[in-house]
Amino acid sequence: AYLNRVRAWKGPGRTSDGYGVELLANVGNGDAAVKAAAGESEGVGLFRTELSFLSAPTEPTIEDQAAIYREVLEPYAGRGGHTHVVIRTLDAGSDKPLAFANFETEENPALGVRGLRLATDNPELLAHQLDAIAAAKSGLDIDVWVMAPMVATVAEARDFAKSCRDRGLWPGVMVEVPAVALNADQVLAEVEFFSIGTNDLTQYAMASDRLSPHLAALNDPWQPAVLRLIQMAAQAGLRANKPVGVCGEAAADPLLACVLAGLGVTSLSMASPALPAVGVQLGDVTIEQCRQAAQAAVTAPDAVTAKARAAALLGA
Ligand code: PEP
Ligand code: MG
Repeated sequence: AYLNRVRAWKGPGRTSDGYGVELLANVGNGDAAVKAAAGESEGVGLFRTELSFLSAPTEPTIEDQAAIYREVLEPYAGRGGHTHVVIRTLDAGSDKPLAFANFETEENPALGVRGLRLATDNPELLAHQLDAIAAAKSGLDIDVWVMAPMVATVAEARDFAKSCRDRGLWPGVMVEVPAVALNADQVLAEVEFFSIGTNDLTQYAMASDRLSPHLAALNDPWQPAVLRLIQMAAQAGLRANKPVGVCGEAAADPLLACVLAGLGVTSLSMASPALPAVGVQLGDVTIEQCRQAAQAAVTAPDAVTAKARAAALLGA
């Protein structure tokens, strides 16, 4: 019966009492966007642009980049409403090095020059990418949001936002570095939205390499300390009346998705096959249940207890 409900699920994302939580797709290329758009996704919450260039020896031209980005925008164009696609600027470095962007090997690549940090030494790379995004969008009826990965400071958010606005693009930043969650009001004041990358936020909050098979218990977004950082970012969003989504793997866990909604997160973005199970679970609970589960999880002493408490309160 459960599987039938998952198969039959039609968006949009809502709790049983009608509280909307936007359900979006994570995509890496145009094919994935076509598939996701044919399903129940309400838009794209994360387009990982670096995945298109993992084997590129040199920086792709602005025209080549624009053609790739347009393939992700087109399947969602013309839908109207608030349909949007969030394009992430290159998250090169660490687990995803790009030959043309990352030059030297680093002692601690996860803590090194990755994501937006590349723009300090190589501002042209970001400028070209933003030019390409602006070109890709031209003539299409679609809202394009642009976000930077690995932001740590207010100044980085401010500079990135200016580069976007100069090109008519709607800027946001990812919350992956705990410093941004701790300083959420000030960072959010510089941009239009947050997107919480729970994969990296967990790795940095728990000081545990996300690629290490030995550290899975630490690398768990149910860790109450991680939930607290998410809560800080989400509550800053509610104060500022700006959207705060989650685009890490945590969003695809149906129970955790309810907890994230209860913490104040306004959208959840995941690989599109995960959307129906999350949609069904959200539709089974009220927003008040989500808030109670969130409160119980955030105050738990450990990840296992957080999950057990949330499951009990969500009737799962
Ligand atoms: C994240 O860190 O949660 C995220 C969505 O980005 P990536 O997994 O690409 O680092
Ligand atoms: Mg990340």
